[in-house]
Amino acid sequence: MIDLISFNKALKSTWVKKYLDPENHGKWKLFFDWQLQHYGGPLVFRGNLNRHDLSKFINTTDAFTTEILQLWSEISYEANVNSTDHFLSLPLWHNSLIRIDNRPVYYKSWSCKGIQNVTDLLKDQNTFLSSQELQERYNVKTNYLVLHGLKSSLKSLRERRSLDTTSSQSFLQSFLKAKKPSKAIYDRLVTIKQKTPFRSQEKWLADCELESHETIDWKSVYLLPFKCTKITKLIIFQFKLLHRRLATNSFLKKIGIKQSDLCTFCKTEEESLIHLFWSCGITSIFWQEFKQWITTNYENVTSNFSPATVLGFKPFFSSKKTRLLCLIARYFIWVCRTQEAVLRLENFVTFQHSFDVC
Ligand SMILES: [Zn+2]
Repeated sequence: MIDLISFNKALKSTWVKKYLDPENHGKWKLFFDWQLQHYGGPLVFRGNLNRHDLSKFINTTDAFTTEILQLWSEISYEANVNSTDHFLSLPLWHNSLIRIDNRPVYYKSWSCKGIQNVTDLLKDQNTFLSSQELQERYNVKTNYLVLHGLKSSLKSLRERRSLDTTSSQSFLQSFLKAKKPSKAIYDRLVTIKQKTPFRSQEKWLADCELESHETIDWKSVYLLPFKCTKITKLIIFQFKLLHRRLATNSFLKKIGIKQSDLCTFCKTEEESLIHLFWSCGITSIFWQEFKQWITTNYENVTSNFSPATVLGFKPFFSSKKTRLLCLIARYFIWVCRTQEAVLRLENFVTFQHSFDVC
């Protein structure tokens, strides 16, 4: 059966192919050019921006352009570097993977002189051009700090690249070569849908205010409950939480089951997942007390909690027991919410006894 949403997106995305085709001289292209004039026009589509960066750093006033850009980001964004060839062919501009001061870069004067991809900054596969060599080759003005920032970002990206996949082409390269681009896009959209829970991961990253290039070992995150317990209800709970399948009041109001989307605990703010498990004032006090309790009884927690640590996205607790207690604490928050009970550490201490943590 045809996935109509993907089909519709695939049709729209052919605008990108037409826009990037130098043989296409349609007057309509001026409209995109005008909307994207401050960003180098087609370079935005040739870049590699995730949705978050796109909405934060690329301002367009026209709804159609915005829609095509968002669609393109959803389809084409690549969060990983697959091979050395892929790394060398990466676009330097508007690329969420290449950041200075935590934002993607675009140096118009460099781009105008033909500097577009990582390979343009290299002497050979491993050595970057020096500032002087860059000036001689491209006749661009640069200063040490700018070039150094770019090189540092690229070096760390090169170290992070994974070489365990066979694909050496970027998606853009294969898309531009495709004889049936809308088919290529359709297949990709369907594959993305079937793949790992990418959307829930992106939402968690945004909720935790982490940038999408920050490395979270999602495989370990999904395995964490299995490694610290055999209790099915805890494993299922964590699975639902990670996949954002817990029905908060925010969700229940949207689907017409509840009248109010306010938080069960504080009754003042919307009950989203991140609010319930982290930012709610009541939850926040609970986590502080939990941290103190863990320090007193189990292990010395010196670093501050963050949403990524209490939700189990980043390794934090050193022992299996404390990781399990943190999982039980998350579950306890959910139980208190569903039973409309008071979220208090003393109740948690009794609650966790039933799990026989030893
Ligand atoms: Zn609240």
